[in-house]
Amino acid sequence: MKLQDRVAVVTGAASGMGKAIAKLYAQEGAKVVVADLNVEGAKTVVNEIESQGGTATAVKVNVAELKDIENMIDTAVKEYGTLDILVNNAGIMDSMEPVGEITDEKWDLLFDINTKGVMRATRKALPIFLEKQRGVIINTASTGGLNGAHAGVAYTASKHAVIGITKNTGFMYAQKGIRCNAIAPGGVETNIGSTMKNINEFGVSRTKLAQSVMPRGGKPEDIAQVALFLASDDASFVNGAVIIADAGWTAAF
Ligand code: NAD
Repeated sequence: MKLQDRVAVVTGAASGMGKAIAKLYAQEGAKVVVADLNVEGAKTVVNEIESQGGTATAVKVNVAELKDIENMIDTAVKEYGTLDILVNNAGIMDSMEPVGEITDEKWDLLFDINTKGVMRATRKALPIFLEKQRGVIINTASTGGLNGAHAGVAYTASKHAVIGITKNTGFMYAQKGIRCNAIAPGGVETNIGSTMKNINEFGVSRTKLAQSVMPRGGKPEDIAQVALFLASDDASFVNGAVIIADAGWTAAF
């Protein structure tokens, strides 16, 4: 068991990668706060974890809302006494809009969820980690956080910013027992496509070029294995890093 008795919060844990991470962490002995906007989905994941002998609790969170984020971290402390691992995974796609066609509202929505939520949850968790002089933060970025051809401008910028938060946080608290790393998944088979409405045809036609060299899509469980490594003591010397998990897709560029 790599995470015996650790307490983990995983956002966006009702579906896709977050769900796979929550389930794998529980299998490895962690007590998991399954946090999601979709609270019914989160409860289903908790039931699955409990039926396999694990420990988990569901909490409704909109990561764009400060009070929800605070309640999420407080729930971990209230239920399990502390927090050891924060996985900032919740995120949405844009609709492939290039800068000429993005609205302020869409830009703000993407940044509130994908970027500001990461900063706020990390800020809320830090006093707990600083007091213990131990803590792990894992951010789900994207290959779109490293490259310009995988999404629209808002998603691309929001995920580049997540990588900036990751590196800065990893460096700032490196001597405080806190590690902060990001995962940059390539294409993974999840429900994220459902967040894409009114797809921008021009944006799609441009990103298709990069899509054409993708070797294959991944499974959420492929990413969960990376998140397990980063959460565990096996990664004790890994900090401020971005682990690309994309079957070699972006090795092409
Ligand atoms: P998913 O849609 O299957 O799961 C995302 C979960 O986040 C859902 O359960 C959803 O309800 C939740 N969520 C959405 N908005 C929320 C909010 N405001 N507050 C709380 N929860 C919210 O998608 P996924 O692919 O598993 O996405 C997980 C992360 O991976 C995202 O950050 C995404 O940007 C990133 N990512 C996905 C891919 C991919 O190909 N699927 C590639 C790279 C990065």
